[in-house]
Amino acid sequence: MSSLLDQDIKYLKGVGPVRAAMLGEELKVFTLGDFIHTFPYKYVDRTMVHTIVNLTEDMPHVQLAGTLLNLQKVGEGRSRRLTAMFTDGTGYIELVWFNGIRQVESHLKVNTPYLLFGKPSAFNGRLKMVHPEMDLLKDGRLPAAAPSLFDTATPDAMPSAPDSAAAGSRGHSLAETLLLKPHYHTTERMKRAFFTSQVISDLMRNAFALIGHRIDETLPDYIRQAHHLIPLPQALAQVHFPPTAEALPAARRRLKFDELFFLQLSILRTARQRQEARNDFIVSRVGPLFNRFYAECLPFPLTDAQKRVVREIRADLRTGRQMNRLVQGDVGSGKTIVAVMAALLLIDAGYQVCIMAPTEILAAQHYASVSRLLEPLGIGCALLMGSLRSRRRRDVLERTRRGEVSLLVGTHALIEPDVVFHNLGMAIIDEQHRFGVKQRAALWDKNVRPPHVLVMTATPIPRTLAMTVYGDLALSVIDELPPGRKPIVTLHRTERTAYDVNALVRRELAAGRQVYIVHPLIEENEKMALRDLETGYRQVLDTYPDYPAAKLHGRMKADEKEAAVAGFVAGTTRILVATTVVEVGVNVPNASVMVIQNAERFGLSQLHQLRGRVGRGADRSYCVLVTKEELSETTRRRLQVMVDTNDGFRIAEEDMRLRGPGDIRGTAQSGLPFTLQIADIVHDADLMQTCRLAARRLLEADPDENLPQNAPVWRELARLTARRTDFTDIS
Ligand code: ADP
Ligand code: MG
Repeated sequence: MSSLLDQDIKYLKGVGPVRAAMLGEELKVFTLGDFIHTFPYKYVDRTMVHTIVNLTEDMPHVQLAGTLLNLQKVGEGRSRRLTAMFTDGTGYIELVWFNGIRQVESHLKVNTPYLLFGKPSAFNGRLKMVHPEMDLLKDGRLPAAAPSLFDTATPDAMPSAPDSAAAGSRGHSLAETLLLKPHYHTTERMKRAFFTSQVISDLMRNAFALIGHRIDETLPDYIRQAHHLIPLPQALAQVHFPPTAEALPAARRRLKFDELFFLQLSILRTARQRQEARNDFIVSRVGPLFNRFYAECLPFPLTDAQKRVVREIRADLRTGRQMNRLVQGDVGSGKTIVAVMAALLLIDAGYQVCIMAPTEILAAQHYASVSRLLEPLGIGCALLMGSLRSRRRRDVLERTRRGEVSLLVGTHALIEPDVVFHNLGMAIIDEQHRFGVKQRAALWDKNVRPPHVLVMTATPIPRTLAMTVYGDLALSVIDELPPGRKPIVTLHRTERTAYDVNALVRRELAAGRQVYIVHPLIEENEKMALRDLETGYRQVLDTYPDYPAAKLHGRMKADEKEAAVAGFVAGTTRILVATTVVEVGVNVPNASVMVIQNAERFGLSQLHQLRGRVGRGADRSYCVLVTKEELSETTRRRLQVMVDTNDGFRIAEEDMRLRGPGDIRGTAQSGLPFTLQIADIVHDADLMQTCRLAARRLLEADPDENLPQNAPVWRELARLTARRTDFTDIS
């Protein structure tokens, strides 16, 4: 029953308000439905029981069966810990707990048989196990020949709820000890509170005891049959309590299908609604501002690709339907001027336009270059960002509301509710990979009539992915760089071979050029990253004392950052020592050298973005990747790709091939309307295609969403959509 799935998780037996709060905050689990869609990330075969005499420290997690002896607290203060000995008759191993000592102590019983699970490690030549999982063996027997829980796969065979859900405090008799033990993700905070994978597993039993029989099928029979899918209740049960290893693939496939099918259905339905949405912001003719700009203000002739994209935008604006267009173009391909011309088309017709950028630095820079371009035309531009002081902010808001500002540039401060437009005709979103479907939706809500939306991105992503992430947008591509660009020369140097880098930098500085030196931002260790940057900055001051240098990082105050960027843009600062804040969009054509320190820590697409900061003027430019001496083979190959090519799409493909789809996956997932729990947009790309087709067929066959056989689908989609608005935050 869907109403049962929507029930607050705190009412589940064994949960209560404290664990419920933690589930919500740590895992975004709020309801029973969320909970049973929290899937194990791995399974461990527990049929295999090791003997202590055969253990070595390089073994992965292993299972031992034996007796717990001699539990005691040792040490004081921070080195305080709980230790125990464990024996299975073949030897002894020490067990150690550092966290939650009191709780562990109260759960464990000495001289009692346990099934233990953990990773052996060695300390001073002695084996031990830190924080092992302990399951009490009630009847003292090993799980050698445990019967399968699922002789039949109907929900009736669901395991019964245990008497209590506290971890490890009660025995798991053999019938409850799964041979394939599921492991659930928990966070540090959960682990500290002893909210372990085992607890989740126990709670999962309670959940299934309560609702296992009443999970609704979400797909009609004809879809299930066509795609060979097992029933949903069975899939859910088996993924949490796998009867055998063989049962898992079918269960996981069914659940992945569900996620991807509903994802595609939602995206395609949105796309259809958008195609139908009229806003009647029609620009039938090119107006005087656009014409004057084109004739008198263009700083350079447009490339053919830029002209084509401007034409595509114009065609959209003639229809009266809302434009939703993505402009994809590599770094430096000239997207900004296209945006400005699109804006002029609307401003000519009497509408306002906003440009939204992902960072304050980029917003400020856009504002500077756009207002300079538009100055001869006398168009009212303004800048709005979070760091604006309240009086200036009020002033900008007031002029925007009255329609005196024709072009408003800003960060996501533009989405905030107090930003009210007089008549917003178009929203332009730059470097969209920092935004997503949700943020776009917020912009669409800015008017009674939805504004046209133009999204610009430099993230080269493979086609199949693009269809998913940008599935609701029409696509334009700028596949040509402005003429006269010399390809950037990319060099790989190690700390030992970097001696010629100084000479290169000095030569370029002497020739009047500017230089970027970038240090990676290490999120886990921001302090260290900043220290690296400080050291690098001091070295720069020592090495090039004749050239003004500045530093730039995220921890600086907004006006300090602004000043640093302004100095570099103006050319008074010749060397900019920065973290990756310069990655997106900073445009200083006079810069000709990009030195990237610790380049091995960056992803390829990030390196490509950084490199794109140079090579913007007509001079030859250089990108130097400085790494440590010892590199893994993969890292060496990745850096070689950078040396070999300047083509962003090739780099993206190589990156996916060499390193797996990490970055792109993260970026893409964050833009989706639903969070995926089990499917993976990269690894499951084939299944995604299948689901996309199935979703499209269903939408075409049932446009009014009222065919009885599809009722379960529409019910589920409504449920998912309702949940989305409940819990998403726009940031
Ligand atoms: P991106 O696509 O990365 O946003 P920009 O719009 O910042 O690229 O443009 C990169 C640089 O190329 C800018 O200095 C811009 O003035 C210049 N540029 C853009 N289009 C042309 C063109 N058609 N001819 C010459 N230079 C151009
Ligand atoms: Mg740009």
